[in-house]
Amino acid sequence: MTAWRIGTTVIHKVLEAEVTVSLAGVLRTDDTALLKRYPWLAPDFGMADGTFVLSVHGLVVDTGARRILVDTCVGNGRASVPFLPMLDSAWLEDLAALGYPPESIDTVVCTHLHFDHIGWNTRRVDGKWVPTFPRARHLVTRAEWDHWASDADADLHDTMQPLLDEGLVDFVGNDHRVCDGVRLEAAPGHTPGQVAVVVESGGERAVITGDLVHHPVQFIEPDVAGLADTDAARAAATRRAFVDRYADTGTLVIGTHFPAPTAGLLRRGGDGGVRFVVDGLR
Ligand SMILES: [Zn+2]
Repeated sequence: MTAWRIGTTVIHKVLEAEVTVSLAGVLRTDDTALLKRYPWLAPDFGMADGTFVLSVHGLVVDTGARRILVDTCVGNGRASVPFLPMLDSAWLEDLAALGYPPESIDTVVCTHLHFDHIGWNTRRVDGKWVPTFPRARHLVTRAEWDHWASDADADLHDTMQPLLDEGLVDFVGNDHRVCDGVRLEAAPGHTPGQVAVVVESGGERAVITGDLVHHPVQFIEPDVAGLADTDAARAAATRRAFVDRYADTGTLVIGTHFPAPTAGLLRRGGDGGVRFVVDGLR
């Protein structure tokens, strides 16, 4: 298990699954040499054959006063999904083993409403989908909800409806302050209402990306869209603003789909180019 300390706040990564994918299986590019142009991405973020590892994990932000879970992965027993077989993982047990049994989580942040971020919102008990985190407020941005609620093909019956039935959802703005030291930050483009999550404590800062990037190469080449980006131009603008905001600030950038070491710093070189630096952070 991996954890980072930001001031007095601890952020734990709870891994659900890692899957090896082709670049074109996740990003809108047919440039097979893309990763080779940035050899420093290897070995953590790319293999010579153009494949890379996509990680699915949740992140617990423990401020001492609050236990906030950012994204709940795919979940067990979900019907077939684009890049993963039906899962039967020990994710919930792993979360509890870290000291976070489900009833101890007070807040769930859904960065957006794609299946691999909201799956464990519910679990199947006696044939019925019930809230996994019964004491948690589940935060969803209004823009995100409005987008999916107007999509006839969206299937949120298993993952969101049980929460709505129990009154566990708060629809919030995309700059919502969750608590002292934790706030949402708008990151539209992948989906209209997506947010990143900013964590600050003791003069230190981390930011959890959500799916504004799926791979660090998108920091360097922000126009490379994710396959699932609903608005590629807006997503690219979000990536540019993100790099401008956080490069050379010492902010720990934690990738929602980055495999280990998962977190790094954005640094500009003398040529103005950006690197995602993980050395010394393992
Ligand atoms: Zn995702």
